[in-house]
Amino acid sequence: MTATPVPGNLTTLKRMVADTPTRPPLGDIAHIGHAQLFTPCPEDTVAFFTGFLGLTVNGRDGDHTYLRTWDDYEHHSIVVTRRDEPGIGRTALRASSSEALERRIQAVRDAGLAGEWVEDEPGVGPLWVTTDPDGHELALYHETTWYEAPAELAPGLKNQPQAKPGHGVGVRRLDHINYLAADVAESTGFVIDTLGARPTEQIRLDGGRIAARWQTFTQKSYDLVYTEDWTGSRGRLHHLAFATDTREDILRAADLALDTGVFIETGPHKHAIQQTFFLYVYEPGGNRIELCNPLTRLVLAPEWPLITWTETERKKGQAWGLQTIESFHTHGTPPVG
Ligand code: FE
Repeated sequence: MTATPVPGNLTTLKRMVADTPTRPPLGDIAHIGHAQLFTPCPEDTVAFFTGFLGLTVNGRDGDHTYLRTWDDYEHHSIVVTRRDEPGIGRTALRASSSEALERRIQAVRDAGLAGEWVEDEPGVGPLWVTTDPDGHELALYHETTWYEAPAELAPGLKNQPQAKPGHGVGVRRLDHINYLAADVAESTGFVIDTLGARPTEQIRLDGGRIAARWQTFTQKSYDLVYTEDWTGSRGRLHHLAFATDTREDILRAADLALDTGVFIETGPHKHAIQQTFFLYVYEPGGNRIELCNPLTRLVLAPEWPLITWTETERKKGQAWGLQTIESFHTHGTPPVG
C-alpha cells in the first residue's frame, strides 16, 4: 500500500469557508470506508482491536491485517500495518457511484493535486490515491464487495452483516478520524471544496486562526476532523474513533480498560463541541483511540450554520467542566522529536 502522489499548487485552496459557499453536492462521498493505522507492534495492536474493541480479523497480507466491526457491510474498516512508528496511513472514502467518483477525482485534479490508481486491498475495487494538503493519504473508491459472514459468525437477523461479539466493547463502526494538520483552514478548505464535506463546527482562536474544524459527508455531525498540530508537523494523527450503541457502553469500556491494562488518557466525559460522550485510550502502538457515543445527533438541515467556538469558550473545558488534559494538545502520532 504505497503511493506517491505529487502535491501541486495549493494556494487556491487556502481560504476561509464563505458564508454562502458554492460547494460540491453533499452525497458524492458516501462515507468513510476504512482507515490504515501504522504500529511498531502489530501483534499487540491487533490483539487490542480484537480483544478489547471486539473487531474481527478478516484477512492478513504480509505486514497488513484487515479488521472489521460487526456492523461493517464491507470487507474491512481498519488496516493495521507494521511500521517503525505509529501513525495514520490511508483513509479511504467511498463514493456513492462511479459517476460521483469521477466527479470528485476531477475536482481534486482541478485543485492542482495529483493522484494514482492502485488495486492493493482485498474486498474493494480500484482506489484513486492522493493526499490532502497536509500530506495525509486519502483514497477514493466506489467498487466494493459486501461481506458475507461464515457460519460461525452468522447473525441472527438478516439485516445485520455479522453476529455481535460476545467479548470486548463490541464497537459498532469506525465513526470518525481526527487528523493533526499544520494549517487547518487549508486542509479543511480542500475537503470542503473538492470532496463536498460540510463543516459543522470549528474553533477560532482570538487571532483569527482556525484551531480545529469538524466536517461531515453524511448526516452524522462529523466524519473528518482537522486539529492544529502544535509542532507544525504534517500528516499526523490525533485520534481515530469507534462508535458504540450507548453511553453505558463507554462506561463499561472504561471498566474493561482498567481490567485489561489499556491506558486511559481521559474520560469518560462529554465534549461541549459536538456533544459527544467519549473515552480516550491509547492502543499498544501509541495511537490514540476514542470510543464515542454521538447519541442520535444528526445534521438534517441543508443550510446548517457553521458553529464557531471561541478561544475563551474552549478554555472552559468539556461539557460538564472536565478540564482538557494537557496530553490532548501534545500527543499525536507519529511522535515528534
Ligand atoms: Fe473524536
